[in-house]
Amino acid sequence: MTCKICCCVASVLQVVLSVFLVLLTAACVTLAVVLVTVLNEGTTGPGLTPPPPSAPPSAPTYLLGLGRADCTGPPAEVPLMGYAQSGQTAAGIHTRLYSRAFIVDDGEKRVVFVTADIGMVSQRLRLEVMKALKLKFGSLYHRGNVVLSGTHTHCGPGGYFQYTLFMLSTKGYIKTAVEPLVDAIVKSISLAHENMRPGHIYRNSGNLQNSSLNRSPHAYHNNPQDERDRFSENTDNQVTILKFTDQDGDGIGVLSWFAVHAVSMNYTNRMVSSDNMGLASVLMELDKNQGLPGEGRFVAGFSSSNLGDVTPNTRGPYCANTGLKCDYINGSCPVGGTKQCQNVGPGDDMFESTRIIAEKIYRKTKELYSTAVEEVTGPLYFAHQWVDMSNVSVKINKTHTASTCKPALGHSFAAGTTDGGGDLNFTQGMVEGDPFWDGIRDALVGPPSNETQDCHRPKPILFSTGEMSWPLPWHPTIIDVQMLVLGSVAILAVPGEITTMSGRRLRAAVKQELQSHGAFEDLQVVIAGLSNVYTHYITTYEEYQLQRYEAASTIFGPHTLSAYIQKFTELSRAIREGSEPDSGPEPPFFEKLFNLLPAATTDRKPDNTSFGDVLEQVYPLYRPGDVASVTFVSGNPRHSGDIRDRTFITVERFNNDSDSWGVVHTDASWETRFHWLKGADRRSNATVQWFIPDSAPSGIYRIRHFGHYKEIKNFRPVIQAFTGQSEAFTVSRGYYSAT
Ligand code: ZN
Repeated sequence: MTCKICCCVASVLQVVLSVFLVLLTAACVTLAVVLVTVLNEGTTGPGLTPPPPSAPPSAPTYLLGLGRADCTGPPAEVPLMGYAQSGQTAAGIHTRLYSRAFIVDDGEKRVVFVTADIGMVSQRLRLEVMKALKLKFGSLYHRGNVVLSGTHTHCGPGGYFQYTLFMLSTKGYIKTAVEPLVDAIVKSISLAHENMRPGHIYRNSGNLQNSSLNRSPHAYHNNPQDERDRFSENTDNQVTILKFTDQDGDGIGVLSWFAVHAVSMNYTNRMVSSDNMGLASVLMELDKNQGLPGEGRFVAGFSSSNLGDVTPNTRGPYCANTGLKCDYINGSCPVGGTKQCQNVGPGDDMFESTRIIAEKIYRKTKELYSTAVEEVTGPLYFAHQWVDMSNVSVKINKTHTASTCKPALGHSFAAGTTDGGGDLNFTQGMVEGDPFWDGIRDALVGPPSNETQDCHRPKPILFSTGEMSWPLPWHPTIIDVQMLVLGSVAILAVPGEITTMSGRRLRAAVKQELQSHGAFEDLQVVIAGLSNVYTHYITTYEEYQLQRYEAASTIFGPHTLSAYIQKFTELSRAIREGSEPDSGPEPPFFEKLFNLLPAATTDRKPDNTSFGDVLEQVYPLYRPGDVASVTFVSGNPRHSGDIRDRTFITVERFNNDSDSWGVVHTDASWETRFHWLKGADRRSNATVQWFIPDSAPSGIYRIRHFGHYKEIKNFRPVIQAFTGQSEAFTVSRGYYSAT
């Protein structure tokens, strides 16, 4: 089974069909489906004007508050959200996930931007966060001034959706996955709120090469020649940053936008991971803060942007079975179809690729941060509207109008992308339906209406999700459009994965509208992707005609982008004129959601062992570059409850001076991998790997594991804590050099 909720999705069909079959036979359930993103500004950055050599710091411009909170959810059995692979359930932790909040106040208005290490922000998640904010802060933070954006990691726990398609792919609405997300986002905003202080914001931007690749160049090439000629690349290679300082000029944080999918980690990974964008954040924060990941006051948010057609796997698509290039038009291989066609690189495996891309984005951001001198000044603005996106009348020229459509997915949605293709015989670029699959679809859920088919042409409809409402609507129709303006920077919160050229058009339209009456000079517009509600992809009208995966997943039809441009232009006009847009129709908040994830069972252990006992011991001696590994008798990590700000593992070094052990890594560290392996008969193991870095000092180390298990005592389930630790071992740099 395959697919990517966001980017890929091939097994969506398989999953959906399975689900229907299961439901029809009144059995239990399984499986799968879909998803995607956004960012940044035009092709030229703001001009860098060097400051006078000894310019005194100007008076503080804004009140600034930054906060970061651990948002890691249950790292076991919960489906990871992104590839829609039914077998890709959480089984450990690669890196932790964080929500990072930035609050700016100009004395009159206040805006909040949150970037969180999650696949996307769902409507349900946003509604729950807004409720919690209202409870805590009254009317201070509201739908208008709070933007929530996801980094688009495909390795974060799902379960935070209220629409059927997404719920099927992540085993329904999982309270234990939703609560830590909501609490952490609110906590990051609360921390930012509590440390508001006078300060400055500076903007900067620059190009970053060799870190992204257009994964649907065939579709991009269908955009008008004169439009393409204005850009040297078929992806936006610009990194745009905002540098935050206190009133003395000391850095307190950075917000960075770069348009690339967080899919360096592929669908074979089972560990919770923040992927390339999350690692970039951690690298920047470790550079500025002392200590472990997640610690320290410096906050570095790396946000998604117009990444709809942008892969980080920069060697491009090859057939995994033959090593030959994939078919350019439909992204498939002669043998094995779309599943075999995979984007690879730049590293030799997904971990190395993640590290390489993260380091590139981080280093570019750090360079831009250290050279940022152009201060952002001017008032703050925000505008928000709910829009029924299934029925927006769009002016396509002076005499003609067209309309957006009820949501529907095309056949090529089931093909997935070259970052994770589907298992079935779908390919990208399908502009004709497949009678076989159409027949099955019709028998199970009925055909799409003629109206919807006409509206979506040339998309052959696989699932007419806008006409499917059992047990709950399959897709949202009411979506958020929202933008913030911080002086000379406009942030567009786009509720989906918008492609490169689509993003350029949207930014240009907003810029033109805001500047149409002489104000907002030198404005920079960035796109924050995967914001507020998830609606899959947004392509240009021309890209849509070719029905690559991104177009098949443009759920509101061929005029989706035009509708967004119209709506964001209206928001821009409202900002320019000082008016407030209508709130629009309020999205639903469904009370009765389904949950398909069974409760975690009790744990068992091998005879004559205890939880935390070592099954496979470390070696006595390692050198930098080696991997220290130890396996423990373990319990289901779901029994550990809310795991935020805790760790399942530590790597500790013995300090001779203090005669004590000190923690050098946790499960948040890039250098460690915590694998939870569920075995037969409710037994499970935890294997902890420490990839010993070249920087590790010689010394005596040990690895510890912390967990919980559930057992039945006196006929009642009881959860008990346990710890385990490896034997002490030596890391010797001398040993390394001697060999
Ligand atoms: Zn995506």
